[in-house]
Amino acid sequence: MASIFSQIVDGEIPARVVYEDETTMAFLDANPLAPGHTLVIPKAEHERLNDLPDDLASDLYDTLHRLIPVIEGAVDAPASNVAFNNGEAAGQEVPHVHGHIIPRFEDDGGNPIHAIAGSPPNLDDEELDDIAERISTDTRI
Ligand code: AMP
Repeated sequence: MASIFSQIVDGEIPARVVYEDETTMAFLDANPLAPGHTLVIPKAEHERLNDLPDDLASDLYDTLHRLIPVIEGAVDAPASNVAFNNGEAAGQEVPHVHGHIIPRFEDDGGNPIHAIAGSPPNLDDEELDDIAERISTDTRI
């Protein structure tokens, strides 16, 4: 069964499409958190960011980069949050990569991205060193 976003790509269900090129598409979120709340997707169906082949990841970033100022300008927003729910435990409901562009306004009552974590951990120096070491090893720095 194709994802709901693949069905939008294929024109099987309607959406307010605001941008489309060969490999990516953007449309208004059906349940906007702010005016202009837009989803940017790769047309090909991949569940998580790291499932994307490199060239498609670049295309997706290019489209985000291009649309952010256009969307902010369209709704006269001075800022935006740009975020991916990457995996079910992170709140991803639609298993087709999508970046949210959520315009933000002075005194809109919202929160910064730091509000995502339920209860931030209290990590001591040793634990932080260990985590940094493991990440550095994995990325071969
Ligand atoms: P996420 O929790 O990151 O997977 O968010 C999925 C988003 O997709 C939600 O913000 C929904 O409002 C949005 N959404 C779901 N179905 C549609 C649809 N048919 N058209 C536009 N947006 C949708």
